[in-house]
Amino acid sequence: MNISYLKKGILPKAGNIFNLNLSRRDFLKYTGAATGLFLTSRLLEYPFLSYANQRPRVVSVYDSNATDYDYITGFHWEYVNQNVVNNMMAQGVMALTGKTNTEAAWKELIPYQSGEKVLIKFNFNNSRDCEGYDNKIDPLAETANAIIDGLISIGVPGDKIWFTDPSRKIPEKFREGIINPYIQYYSHLSCTGLNYHIIDYIDPKSPAASTATCPAGEKILPSQIFVEADHLINVPILKSHGEYVTLALKNHYGSVLFQNYDRSEMHAFFNEGKNSAGCDLNKTNILADINNNPHIKNKTRLVIGDGLFGNPFTNWKDTERWEIFGNDDPNIFFFSIDPVAISSVMTDYIVAERGGQDHEQLHAAAGLGLGIHDHWDAFETKNYTAIDYIPFDLNNPKISRVDIDQAIRDYKAGNATEKEVKDIISRYMEGI
Ligand SMILES: [Zn+2]
Repeated sequence: MNISYLKKGILPKAGNIFNLNLSRRDFLKYTGAATGLFLTSRLLEYPFLSYANQRPRVVSVYDSNATDYDYITGFHWEYVNQNVVNNMMAQGVMALTGKTNTEAAWKELIPYQSGEKVLIKFNFNNSRDCEGYDNKIDPLAETANAIIDGLISIGVPGDKIWFTDPSRKIPEKFREGIINPYIQYYSHLSCTGLNYHIIDYIDPKSPAASTATCPAGEKILPSQIFVEADHLINVPILKSHGEYVTLALKNHYGSVLFQNYDRSEMHAFFNEGKNSAGCDLNKTNILADINNNPHIKNKTRLVIGDGLFGNPFTNWKDTERWEIFGNDDPNIFFFSIDPVAISSVMTDYIVAERGGQDHEQLHAAAGLGLGIHDHWDAFETKNYTAIDYIPFDLNNPKISRVDIDQAIRDYKAGNATEKEVKDIISRYMEGI
């Protein structure tokens, strides 16, 4: 294949991809525009693949059967279908990694060695007591059970799977829904119960402390559990915090303490409007600084955005129905290894539902090299220039870019014909 046009950033003329008769417009639609920008001389054998491989991938999986709450009877978290959630999780990790079975996908994501510990950071922001029997949005046991299944499948023992939200209580209503009895729970705040441990934050003199850019020199002190863990999975919830988003980056606000400031004071350093410190929050932002701590940055293997339920307006109230999801709960999961890219996509959904959201944190984090920030072109099309976003709708399954990647791999391995690859690309083209 002649690849010179890719190096120059010039789009191909019709007909030179597998000799398919693709128009320039189709090709643009397919690749999400700005094709040449991200291509280098490696990985150019198949332009679709190489383009995707150089942008962070974000996958979403939607299935309206995941939840079934009528907003009248009982609590929303009593209406989650574990089997549907398990399938969504399986589809998500496979699509994210391009693997065809869940075990291979989890292995790719978590390179687990015997004896290591896998820490999962949930967002229990609304858990102010040890019981938690209310309708406020908090982590779902079904999501956690599906993650546990994935980890168990690659040989992680239950007692090496650690759940945490250091600054909040991990409530009974969540723990009693966890099927595996060996999971360990870590918080700075005490509750009683099996495998529930109190854990402290590190000392400012610890080598695990890192330094903030604004307030300059302030020490960021992660919970000791982050120092002891080997792999980290970050599980934010699809919700707003009022003026600004609270997604993958803000989820780690609860993972740390600070040396000289208390938690509430620190909001001034990421929330514009309350910025008494005079920082340019698009460049220096405490949420970006927290996520830049080596025990968070270097250990993060996977981010799973839980949008089975969500609130586009506030972080501390009950679940809400979303207009953009058919006036129902969102019933969606997001998957990525890039905390900034996944937060960018989740932000776009929140903005589509409610209007603007401050997100200086994402600009600052991208500036620190923690991931890629971008905005989609429009809700209807959801095209990104810098993110390889692949949405799956399990209610209406269609040929996706992941299917094409697989067909091309099969072709290269001698397990598919060129015609089969062309056919699947044509079917994809018809669907967009
Ligand atoms: Zn932005």
